[in-house]
Amino acid sequence: MAALVDIGKGEPDFHTPEYVKRAAHTAIDENFTKYTPQPGIPELRTAIARKVKEENSIEASPGQVVVSCGGKHAVDNAVRCLVRPGDEVLIITPHWFAYVEQINLCGGTPVYVPARPENGYVPDAAEVCAAITARTRLLILNSPNNPTGAVYPGTLLEALARTAIEHDFTVLSDEVYEKIVFDGARHVSIASLNADIAARTITVNSVSKTHAMTGWRIGYAVLPEKLADRVSAIQSVSTSAPSAVSQRAALAALTGDQSHVAAMTRAYAERRGFVLEQVKQIPSLSVVPPAGTFYSFVDIGGLIGHTVSGKEVCDANAFTAALREEAGVSVVSGSGFGAPRHIRISFAVSLDALKEGFARLKAFVLEEFTEQ
Ligand code: PLP
Repeated sequence: MAALVDIGKGEPDFHTPEYVKRAAHTAIDENFTKYTPQPGIPELRTAIARKVKEENSIEASPGQVVVSCGGKHAVDNAVRCLVRPGDEVLIITPHWFAYVEQINLCGGTPVYVPARPENGYVPDAAEVCAAITARTRLLILNSPNNPTGAVYPGTLLEALARTAIEHDFTVLSDEVYEKIVFDGARHVSIASLNADIAARTITVNSVSKTHAMTGWRIGYAVLPEKLADRVSAIQSVSTSAPSAVSQRAALAALTGDQSHVAAMTRAYAERRGFVLEQVKQIPSLSVVPPAGTFYSFVDIGGLIGHTVSGKEVCDANAFTAALREEAGVSVVSGSGFGAPRHIRISFAVSLDALKEGFARLKAFVLEEFTEQ
C-alpha cells in the first residue's frame, strides 16, 4: 500500500521562525545553559506580562507569570495546585483529553458539561450552572477549542465569570490557540473582563501553536500572585524551570516580528476552506465549520454500525483503525475527546497531504459504506 498520509496531527507543519532559532544559537554560544529561576527568567516573565496586557487586556505583574515546560505542563501545575481528592472540575465536552487524566491523577472528579453541535459547540451558561455543586473547585475553559474549533463569545464568558464569582470557584482558561481564528471570530480572555474574575482566573498559553514551537516546550500561566508562588513551588520539585535555551527562544518569539503568525493563519484559512468543501462531498459526513484552531471535528455517526473487512465499525476508534489499515490515512478518533461518533482532521498539514488524504477517505467511504 502507498505510504500513510497523516491528516490528524496537532502541531503546525511550519518551521520555527529563523530569528527565533538564532536567539537559541546565541543563548548556547553565550553559555546560557544553567538552571534558571524556578518561575522562569525575569526578561521572559516581563515580556509575557506585557504581551497579555497589550494583546489580551489582562493586567498582570511579572510576579504573576510562571513559565513552564509547555502549556500542558502549565495546566498540570495548576490542577495539582488546586484539585484535592473529592473536588469536582467542570469540563466542557468534547474536550482535550489531557485535562481528564490530570484531574484524575489528583483524585478529582471531572464533571462534563456538553457543548452541542447545533449551537456551534458553544456551551450554554445555564447548563454550566446546573452542574455546579458544593464541591466544584474549578472550571476549565478552552477557547478556541480543541477539538471542536469553537470560539466562545464575550457574552458567554461574562455569564461564566459572574457564575464563578457567585459560586466561588477558580477558572482555568486554556488559550493556546488564541491566534488561530477565522472569518472575523474574535478571541476574548475571560481574565480581561473585570478585576474580580481576573483574581480567580489562571490563563494558560504557550508558544507551541502560535509560533510553530511545539518541540521547544515553553508554556506559561498568568495567575494571582499567591497561586503563582504555589505553582512555582510545585514546579521546583518536579521539573524545575524549563530549558534555559528554550526560554531565550520564547523571549525572541514573543518580542520579535510577528508576521509569521498571520502568514500561518492565512495558510490554515485556505486549507480550512478546502477541508469544509471536501467533507460536503463525502456521503454521511458533516462538520460544524470551526471558528478557530486548525482542526475540523467531523461527525461520522452515519457510518457507525457498518462492517468493513468483516469487522463492525462500532465507533470512531474502529473507524480510524479501519481507515488506517484499508486506506492508509491517519486521523484522530473522537473517543479520547469524549465524542465516539467523531473524528478530528487537522489542517496543520500541507494542502497536498489534505488532497491525498481526502481522496483516499472519500474512496474508502464510497467503497466500504455505501453499498451495504
Ligand atoms: N491545550 C490544548 C487545548 C492543546 O490542544 C494543547 C496541545 O495540543 C496544549 C494545551 C498544550 O500544548 P503545549 O504543551 O505544546 O504548549
